Amino acid sequence: MGRYVGPSCKQCRREGIKLFLKGTRCMTAKCEIEKRNFAPGQHGHGRHKLSDYGVQLREKQKMKRIYGMFEQQFKIAFQRAALKKGVTGENLIQILEQRLDNVVYRLLFVSSRREARQFVDHGQVYVNGRRVDVPSFQVKPGDVIEVSKKEKVQKRVKDNLELLKDRPLPEWLSLDKETLKATVVRHPGKADAGLPVEESMIVELYSK
Ligand code: SF4
Repeated sequence: MGRYVGPSCKQCRREGIKLFLKGTRCMTAKCEIEKRNFAPGQHGHGRHKLSDYGVQLREKQKMKRIYGMFEQQFKIAFQRAALKKGVTGENLIQILEQRLDNVVYRLLFVSSRREARQFVDHGQVYVNGRRVDVPSFQVKPGDVIEVSKKEKVQKRVKDNLELLKDRPLPEWLSLDKETLKATVVRHPGKADAGLPVEESMIVELYSK
């Protein structure tokens, strides 16, 4: 009998790519995409050609799943992106990257965005000296991000940084690994995010 595959891995299999939802496990041979890259369910083996709408929908689902957001939250982020000056798709990436939970993940304080959300939820993160426990909080250039001074939290973050030391930090964030004090250097761009998603398709989908 097959082993139970948790919802995270099913999401990757549905999209046919690694969405990196499970931290360090995603980098190992235990990754479900490495073992069986076909969609879950009875008809999973036959990936048929999608309509234009289907392709746009898949791109949206991919992006939403990467950032671990619900439909409504994602739609609100899109609406904010559309109201900003500039290219809507790129604005959307910037808004998603600037979420505090994503920043904690990008700083390698934890190994997945899901873990990052919990970490923020539990009040372990400070922005400019004030505790912020809202995962969707938007950081901006100049913001200073720190973690709780509790020994347990500091150790957990330092252990994770050591575990992931081969992964580069994004250029839009700087980090002092001794003090665990990070600064937002500039706004993130599309290239910084390096997402396997065609964001213009999402704009087309929501423009219908
Ligand atoms: Fe599961 Fe991570 Fe592999 Fe996705 S990338 S299938 S979440 S182990």
